[in-house]
Order: sequence, then C-alpha cells, then structure tokens
Amino acid sequence: MTCEIIRDLIPMYIDKTVSDETNAAVKTHIDECEDCRKYCEACRRAEKKASEFSKKSLEKTLKDVGADISQLDQQYALLSRKLKLRKIRQTIISIFVLLGMAVYVTLDIINTVKRKEKN
Ligand SMILES: [Zn+2]
Repeated sequence: MTCEIIRDLIPMYIDKTVSDETNAAVKTHIDECEDCRKYCEACRRAEKKASEFSKKSLEKTLKDVGADISQLDQQYALLSRKLKLRKIRQTIISIFVLLGMAVYVTLDIINTVKRKEKN
C-alpha cells in the first residue's frame, strides 16, 4: 500500500474502526515507514487534545448551565410562593364575595316572602 492510502486510513486506524486485515497492513507499514509513523503519532496527539478540549469545554458548559439552573430554581420557588399567596388571597376574596352574594340573595328572598305575606 502507498503512503497516501495509509494516511487516508490512519484516522480510522486510530479510531479502531478498520478491519483486522487493514489494521495489520497499516501497522506493518507504520513500523517500516518513518513518515507515516510520525503522521500517525501527530494524528493521535491531535485526537487526544481534541477530546480533552471537548471534555473540558463540556464540563465548563455543564457547570455554567448548572449555576443557571440553580438560579432558576430559586426564582421559581420564590415565584411559586408568591403565586400561592396570591391564590390564597384570591380564594379568600372570592369566598367573601360569594358569602356577600349569598347574604344579599337570602335577604332578597326574605324581603320578597315578607312582601308576599303582607299582600
Ligand atoms: Zn508511508
């Protein structure tokens, strides 16, 4: 196999996604060809750095998001407490309104009955 073919295969060789036969062929070539060996080592280093970088940036992103999530949690707790208080207040108000209406309706009925009794 030519150096060009080997270099095309090296990324897959590093990822171990080549067949056993290709793996053996690349390995044999790398053992004998210094240029391809250097190329392979450079690829490995680049791959390692890339994966380290993505791991680090992922961890950082997760940390940032985590901080935001806890802030949102606090705000949500505060908001839901406020909403609960408002709900309770609204419920009390509506109970009073209903009671007032009930009293008014009852008084109205009593008055109507009294008026009918008079007639
Ligand atoms: Zn070569």
